[in-house]
Amino acid sequence: MTEVSVAKEDVAATGELVVLKGVNKHFGALHVLQDIDLTIARGEVVVVIGPSGSGKSTLCRTINRLETIDSGAIAIDGKPLPDEGKALARLRADVGMVFQSFNLFAHKTVLENVMLGQIKVRKADKKKAEEKARALLDRVGVATQADKYPAQLSGGQQQRVAIARALAMDPKVMLFDEPTSALDPEMINEVLEVMQQLARDGMTMIVVTHEMGFARSAANRVVFMADGRIVEEAAPDQFFSNPRSDRAKDFLSKIL
Ligand code: ADP
Ligand code: MG
Repeated sequence: MTEVSVAKEDVAATGELVVLKGVNKHFGALHVLQDIDLTIARGEVVVVIGPSGSGKSTLCRTINRLETIDSGAIAIDGKPLPDEGKALARLRADVGMVFQSFNLFAHKTVLENVMLGQIKVRKADKKKAEEKARALLDRVGVATQADKYPAQLSGGQQQRVAIARALAMDPKVMLFDEPTSALDPEMINEVLEVMQQLARDGMTMIVVTHEMGFARSAANRVVFMADGRIVEEAAPDQFFSNPRSDRAKDFLSKIL
């Protein structure tokens, strides 16, 4: 216990936006995250790649505390992750998350989807929330769909609404877990373009994706995971042209 609380103070003191230090996580006998050290600076875009089952989704889920960790520490913007209560709700709002499946509220309109968190978590008034929602829907190119229900939209449009909904909370960092994997091929680019723009606007982003074009053009850094470990980290050019580890070489030979 003492070790964990010391580490908590350490990670909180670095001043970096996202810090994971010595993070371990098990699912029963499976050691799904092993000694993860990862620091993400403000405005940095980090692409996480690696084989299926390597722990990428679990890593994302620990960062907004959808999963607990067994040891180590995580801090967002200088604060250790809270365990529960209002502080946890605020943390979740600070860490926007976009999943493979769009996870919109099916019985709310597109506009309501983007307004809801602002009102409930950020305590915005309705008029302000609506103004902001409309501006964000415009920014992701779906302003004309505001009064429809999610099921009436294409997958690409739904995912852009999901991004707008996350942005409505003014997150400090955005996590994307394979945001285009469930999309028909012709819709992938419209979502990646929104993400590219977000990156250019300076959003701090952690993106799990197999879209290597996105990684090359938008990422400051590629983090390669295998078997619950960060095996390699490098600038995209360096990683793709000259991976150091055999695991990364093997992985790239299969996907490129
Ligand atoms: P990735 O996103 O890289 O494909 P995941 O983080 O989803 O990997 O999963 C890593 C490993 O943990 C996999 O073997 C997966 O089956 C296992 N796993 C993920 N979530 C759970 C869970 N809630 N309970 C048990 N095992 C899990
Ligand atoms: Mg995954």
